Amino acid sequence: MLKIALSKGRILDDTLPLLATADIVPRDNPETSRKLILDTNHEDVKLVLIRASDVPTYVEYGAADIGVAGKDVLMEYDSDDLYEPLDLKIAQCRLMVAGRENTPLPPHGRLRIATKYTKTTQRYYAQQGIQVEVIKLYGSMELAPLVGLADFIVDLVETGNTLRANGLVELEQIARISSRLVVNKAAMKIKYQQIKHLISQLQQAVAQKTV
Ligand code: AMP
Repeated sequence: MLKIALSKGRILDDTLPLLATADIVPRDNPETSRKLILDTNHEDVKLVLIRASDVPTYVEYGAADIGVAGKDVLMEYDSDDLYEPLDLKIAQCRLMVAGRENTPLPPHGRLRIATKYTKTTQRYYAQQGIQVEVIKLYGSMELAPLVGLADFIVDLVETGNTLRANGLVELEQIARISSRLVVNKAAMKIKYQQIKHLISQLQQAVAQKTV
């Protein structure tokens, strides 16, 4: 049995065509089905639908053998216990520091950054020797600089439309983001042939898409 963890939305929409190229097709429509474990056209392959930020946890603990997760989620999860064998080149965007143009430095001297990526943000500034106060938010990060909650935000940017609509500008790029295939280390050993075959089929599907 091979369990593949996916999250609904962008990742699922972009991963299903890649899986179809590898001849893995769910029996139910994942967008409309309320099932969390979906059968596929292969008796021994199931899709497990979970929250994007839970994918690394399921795969690390072996509850799923394979998963698809954004690099942003993987950077924040920060585990050495996952293989990351393939960049699927889907859901591409950038992790950016953003804020108002010409933000005055705070009188208290320590920058306040609002983000849901608290570990990644701490690491980014620590590497530069800059002390910051990181404020954890769960959504609508763009609001924080507008109401004085934070000087800057760290968030994903694709077109930049959301920032522009809120009078914010891109300031620094922390990382280029795309979705990656992650594999449980034990599963990679025990189900080596099956997983290796899937990786190589997905690799071909990604290459076909990007030529
Ligand atoms: P945009 O206005 O196109 O720059 O998109 C920015 C909004 O979409 C922000 O709220 C981001 O958190 C979200 N976003 C952009 N790209 C992604 C992605 N690849 N995965 C998840 N959320 C994203």
